[in-house]
Amino acid sequence: MKTLATLIRLAFLGLFIFLVVQGKPMLWLVLYVIGLITTFLFGRYYCGYICPMNTIMRPIDWLAKKLGIQTKTTPRFLESGKFAWFTLFASLAVVLVIRRVAGRQFPVLVVWLVLAALITLRYRPAVFHNLICPFSAPLKLVGNYSRNSQYVIPEDCIGCGKCIKPCPSNAITIPKGSRVAQIETNICHQCQDCRAVCPENAIKYGSTG
Ligand code: SF4
Ligand code: SF4
Repeated sequence: MKTLATLIRLAFLGLFIFLVVQGKPMLWLVLYVIGLITTFLFGRYYCGYICPMNTIMRPIDWLAKKLGIQTKTTPRFLESGKFAWFTLFASLAVVLVIRRVAGRQFPVLVVWLVLAALITLRYRPAVFHNLICPFSAPLKLVGNYSRNSQYVIPEDCIGCGKCIKPCPSNAITIPKGSRVAQIETNICHQCQDCRAVCPENAIKYGSTG
């Protein structure tokens, strides 16, 4: 499964690079909108498998951890979660102003790809995914209403917490006083990294209803 997931991510990264080379990176937004709409049905699989930023961030996260340069802290000004909406509207404004004033296309997606890589060198992926990424804000909103997602089967979970560490978006918690892990659907990328480490096979994909 891990190999297949990596191949899917690399295929979409290849498509993104192809569109950039062809001078049509904005066509990527079609895929984003499809990913956003289908999040209602399947969860945020766009983030887990399609997004080129996530694909780039994975090896960079590994490298940053190896080099010991990543901090576990989160900048205080990001904690409210509103900054991602700011980056979304600021990005839209920059694209529109540059098109109107200079008649040129601002490579907003490429710029965010570079920023995602740089930020991941210093901060955990969840900081970028949940608090900075302009594309995550609408996905997070729609993710609240996803009909299907990864979820924990309470009867099977032993509360060992092994699933928490590999989660790239900090979507798993074990509430105080509970022995059962919980997954926040709105920030889960459906990547299944948690399933790969669960000793009880307690995580499944299915209806959230
Ligand atoms: S909860 Fe599991 S599937 Fe969802 S993002 Fe975290 S590791 Fe991936
Ligand atoms: S790894 Fe599995 S058993 Fe352990 S807390 Fe997570 S879901 Fe529960």
